Amino acid sequence: MQAPLHPGKRAIVIGASIGGLLAARALADYYGEVTVAERDILPDDYEPRKGVPHGRHTHGLLARGREVLEELFPGFTEEMVGQGAATSDLVDKVLWFNHGFYLCNAPSKMLGLSISRPMLEGSVRRRVLQLPNVRLRERCDVLEPTFDRTPDRVTGVRVRSRDGLHSTQTMNADLVVDASGRGSSSPAWLDALGYPKPREEQIKINLGYATRQYRRLPEQLRGMRGAIIGACAPDWRFGAILAQEGDRWIVTLGGYLGDQPPTDDSGFIAFAQSLQKPEIFDVVRVAEPLCPLMPYQFSANLRRHYEELFRFPAGFLVFGDALCSFNPAYGQGMTVACAESLALRECLAAGTQDIAGRFFRVASQLIDIPWQIAVGSDLRHPRVEGKRTIQVRFINWYIGKLYRAAQDDAVLASRFLEVANLMRQPAALLDPQIALRVWKRNRAPARVVTIPRGSTT
Ligand SMILES: Cc1cc2nc3c(=O)[nH]c(=O)nc-3n(C[C@H](O)[C@H](O)[C@H](O)COP(=O)(O)OP(=O)(O)OC[C@H]3O[C@@H](n4cnc5c(N)ncnc54)[C@H](O)[C@@H]3O)c2cc1C
Repeated sequence: MQAPLHPGKRAIVIGASIGGLLAARALADYYGEVTVAERDILPDDYEPRKGVPHGRHTHGLLARGREVLEELFPGFTEEMVGQGAATSDLVDKVLWFNHGFYLCNAPSKMLGLSISRPMLEGSVRRRVLQLPNVRLRERCDVLEPTFDRTPDRVTGVRVRSRDGLHSTQTMNADLVVDASGRGSSSPAWLDALGYPKPREEQIKINLGYATRQYRRLPEQLRGMRGAIIGACAPDWRFGAILAQEGDRWIVTLGGYLGDQPPTDDSGFIAFAQSLQKPEIFDVVRVAEPLCPLMPYQFSANLRRHYEELFRFPAGFLVFGDALCSFNPAYGQGMTVACAESLALRECLAAGTQDIAGRFFRVASQLIDIPWQIAVGSDLRHPRVEGKRTIQVRFINWYIGKLYRAAQDDAVLASRFLEVANLMRQPAALLDPQIALRVWKRNRAPARVVTIPRGSTT
């Protein structure tokens, strides 16, 4: 690492989860000292923790996220593979079912990383803390930002230690980055200081989730490394099974609008059986469970439009899920945090003048696409409330046609997954050659694939 550009300057990041760590990675190139303040005690091994309850649930890293992690931490993928994770071809080795069809499996160059969320976060944390100018303060609850005499500029944060003494202290900084997740207090802090709050956009989906890990045998799931059964009419239930380090499967089942999968053995297996395809059921009915069933509720896609604010204090930024949190079923959140890290690095390269305004504008542009993908797909569900523009209706109709065409067409399957993995813009699905392939293949009668129960283990 080269010497930071502003050696005398200090930055503080609130939260040491994926977002906070990736923000710290970008800041470390520019600030002499970067302190990450985290209220939890962080585990030495790859264990879930209280401040990130979602870490117990299935987390897939999109291909774009893996690519950015590799850029930020060279050799990251190889290091993870050395520790028991695996890379897998996302087109060839994962079953994707949606809109009534499977995508065609064929070799591609799109590599994913089969790894648990605690291992991913723990490994990113270790890499970030190897940077000489980054330090971590655990058990450190950030109470609020502090200001100069006038509240025009943030000058640090007031923190309370959770070491038993509960002492409060002020930590000074030239820049404070809020990466405290979707429950971020930034809107309330701004309001208390007389600043406008960001407009919040919400699409309520009330997802019910239940997750469990199982011992993985290589012959299960027809030798594939994962299967994603997307939510479709009539019941809009979905499921994901992914290989992880330690010869484990992680399985999540879910439903919309309060359709909560049961957390008892037979109820969970029956829910798996109710999915439109049998692959997940075929594993969970025979595989050895390695932990209890864990429930989770996710209320809404939530976006805070900081880029619209005309007044915002200098020396303050918001990052990661605190900016936007997506329906987790599309696996986008960590990849968006990766992309924001690159964006922050670019903004800092142009100086710190109006850093918030510039960062929020770029972040908003890069959030637009995953937001459209998540919200647009959720609006397929007839009872999810939200505006179904002509564009949303057309895209959802077209993706259905594309899925059908891609059951026998590796080019279409790869193109779709490149967009879903945030490697390409959605417009790439409408390239004339792609649209022509979709049209031609839809002229032939649909081929219905039926897999008898019990054939996938
Ligand atoms: C069930 C579920 C499944 C998901 N699956 C995927 C997936 O498959 N792929 C994917 O890419 N994304 C997935 N996501 C999204 C992903 O988990 C988030 O995008 C990601 O965790 C965001 O990281 P973050 O650091 O912004 O926020 P968080 O992970 O929420 O972390 C916030 C951190 O801030 C700390 N904190 C909060 N307040 C304070 C304070 N006042 N002082 C100090 N510390 C504080 C917390 O302890 C925590 O460590 C999923 C999310 C959920 C809910």
